[in-house]
Amino acid sequence: MSTIKYEPIPNDVDVENVLPRQRRSDLRSKFRIFHVFALAALMYAAVSGFRATGLGRILRTHCTGFKSISTAATRGGLPNYYTLPSGDKIPSVALGVWQAAKGEVGAAVKTALNAGYRHIDGAWIYGNEAEVGAAIKETGISREDIFITSKLWNSFHQPDDVAPALEESLKRLGTDYLDLYLIHWPVAFKKETTSDGKPIADLDLTNDPYPTWKALEKLVDSGKVKNIGVSNFNIRRLQNLTANNLKYQPAVNQVELNFWNPQPDLVSWAGKNGVLLEAYSPLGSTQQVKETLSVPEIKAVAKELRITPAQAVISWHVQRGTIVLPKSVTPSRVEENFKVVKLPQESFDAIEKAATAHPPKRVVDPSKNWGVDVFED
Ligand code: NAP
Repeated sequence: MSTIKYEPIPNDVDVENVLPRQRRSDLRSKFRIFHVFALAALMYAAVSGFRATGLGRILRTHCTGFKSISTAATRGGLPNYYTLPSGDKIPSVALGVWQAAKGEVGAAVKTALNAGYRHIDGAWIYGNEAEVGAAIKETGISREDIFITSKLWNSFHQPDDVAPALEESLKRLGTDYLDLYLIHWPVAFKKETTSDGKPIADLDLTNDPYPTWKALEKLVDSGKVKNIGVSNFNIRRLQNLTANNLKYQPAVNQVELNFWNPQPDLVSWAGKNGVLLEAYSPLGSTQQVKETLSVPEIKAVAKELRITPAQAVISWHVQRGTIVLPKSVTPSRVEENFKVVKLPQESFDAIEKAATAHPPKRVVDPSKNWGVDVFED
């Protein structure tokens, strides 16, 4: 929650002794009048809910302390947001909505926004954008205070398909712009499928995604998307894309990062090359979440710091310098997952060491179904 910060009077200026008595009394009465006006303005904006005006927005943001993006730089000692090349602030913890079923995703989004989340990670393929959009509207939180991500599905990589795909997501979400639009996978699908309904990869567009990227850049120029990025790109695929003369660099790369697949090389490379990573399936996804939360090192850190194992893991992700996208439709867990705290160095090191001590194991890998080795180096 944001609090109002007043400009402090410099310590070396003693107002009482510097100003003559009459001038002081004039100033005091002017100050009282100002207070009366300020109070009246506050009451007017609060009571009338005059949302459209800049004044209403500023008052809601700075005075009510909710329904606004927290502009505090840190929360629990960890970054509350990262700044993208566009200058936009992307909150470090988002609610993920993959596999959040229709009929429950809306409630999860509302719980999250009421708990303070201001970042929702969705995608066209999740099939729940309409309910997500409706839930966002129902909270009454201003659109500009919420960071909304969607993703371009593999069937729409042909440049002419990109703008219509975005339009569909915008329509479903009930918004006229996205904060972030990602190429969901570095795999383009052809229009036709195999006789048993499996996708057929368009290898040209998969090996060279630059035409798709140029179509995304046009969306930025149109104002319908504020930032563009990629997902599931390894270093080779990212270097292949960025070797082109890009107008806009990928703002983020959203990849699987969790205790079982911590990808220390990618995290280190991304840090050195200014690529912001987003950690998906941060708890190990539904298949592995129980296992993750039972890891002795994670349990020990949680016990010592009096936090939950999920909070220890989510905090570890942010402390690694990544954005983290935990998914839950359980209200208590949605709230729990938002409470990150900076781990003492030895606790952070204990989780990092345990995570990188075993052979990596991915939970999300569609390579076999798609006939493309997605993560091939
Ligand atoms: P996840 O967030 O690692 O795990 C979700 C599972 O953990 C759910 O079963 C959830 O159960 C459970 N859970 C959540 N918080 C918990 C807690 N505090 N205690 C115990 N259990 C808890 O996995 P994910 O859904 O695979 O990934 C998260 C998000 O990443 C997705 O929603 C999506 O936005 C993004 N993602 C992106 C891609 C991509 O290709 N770009 C791929 C996968 C995921 P309940 O819901 O029942 O509470």
